[in-house]
Amino acid sequence: MRPIADWHNAIAHIDADCFYVSCEMSRRPDLKGRPVCVLSNQGAFVIAKSYDAKARGVTTAMSVWDAKKLVPDAVFLTPEFRFYGQLSDKLFSILRRYSPEMEIYSIDEAFMDMNGIRTLWRKSFRQLGDEIRDVVKREVGITVSVGVANTRTLAKIASESNKPDGTTVVPGKRIQRFLADVSVGDIPGIGRNRQALLHKFDVRTAADLAQSDEALIHRLLGRHGMVLWQELNGKVVQQLEVAPPIPKSVARTASMGQMSDDRTLIAAHLSHHTHRLVSDLVARGLLAERISVFLTLESFERSGIEMRLDYPTNSLKKITEVVRKAFMLLYQPAMLYRGCGTIASHIRKTSGVTHDLFGVMQSDQRQTELMLTINRINRKYGHHMVTSAAASMLGKHRSRELRFRYPVLSAC
Ligand SMILES: [Mg+2]
Repeated sequence: MRPIADWHNAIAHIDADCFYVSCEMSRRPDLKGRPVCVLSNQGAFVIAKSYDAKARGVTTAMSVWDAKKLVPDAVFLTPEFRFYGQLSDKLFSILRRYSPEMEIYSIDEAFMDMNGIRTLWRKSFRQLGDEIRDVVKREVGITVSVGVANTRTLAKIASESNKPDGTTVVPGKRIQRFLADVSVGDIPGIGRNRQALLHKFDVRTAADLAQSDEALIHRLLGRHGMVLWQELNGKVVQQLEVAPPIPKSVARTASMGQMSDDRTLIAAHLSHHTHRLVSDLVARGLLAERISVFLTLESFERSGIEMRLDYPTNSLKKITEVVRKAFMLLYQPAMLYRGCGTIASHIRKTSGVTHDLFGVMQSDQRQTELMLTINRINRKYGHHMVTSAAASMLGKHRSRELRFRYPVLSAC
């Protein structure tokens, strides 16, 4: 194997441990320490199991009868996918704080491009991995395992090698030593048949596979095997697919924490939400064509209005203009309000705009770049470090968590 630079490329794989079971445990602490199985919708099969249920022989897709025979004292639960989806969203939004380039691989797994991220955070990959695990534990109530390596195949093997709740970092120079302890059957994409075939040729560990002759691997495993062979040798073949599914809407709403009829205060809250909404759109490479604004009345009723933008945009200036217009239409001086929010809809990707639209949008380009810079500053120094001038007045009404605030934008 040729010597490889430690970090010519850096990919992290983050994978939740026993995700569905962990989700259930996060809201039911009484389940901790007990074997738990989550069943399929009809209750016929096990779709997820805790580590102790697994240790006692329960496997995924086992019938509930067999599982009950093996672990009669287990708790058997029906799944609640909506709840799992909510925790999944929370998990990915935490990961996005660390690297905007992320591929969501499944409901509980993501790959992240970590190139340049050490410099941004001034932390090692190990420190970042440990921090991600801690933050997810604190904010979502579940554990994840983190692997960081040169390629996605290596990162996935790394996260898998130290479960649950582990961080595994494999720099280029340590790949060979790391793979010596990994069985070929544990390489993603090597099933039982391929494993048996490789064993016949005395390829037993992932290190054996990486060191095998290229032609032999091609003959035994075909083109897919060649991809694995290269990725195990630290050569990037599989790029991240960072385009996430396009959401139907993106919302930023909250209660104001107090009832108020103060026009300036409500406008400041709305400005704060608008700023966060735009920041989110920009970070995710999304444009919106409609913006809804609503105010929540004392009675919890909502009065709202949908505004149409001239073209899909994530420009803070353009979106602020329509939010301000909507607010002027909605606000009534004699009413008490308890909350407000902004919702972007008719969403599309920045990359999907047509050429003529792009011409119009070029004037928004500087706004977008400014917003990305603000995102980076806020990510590095804490949220709300840089915010809109109007939203910054919320500091007077909120806790004094920040000593300094730089009102560089006038947004509302
Ligand atoms: Mg998982």
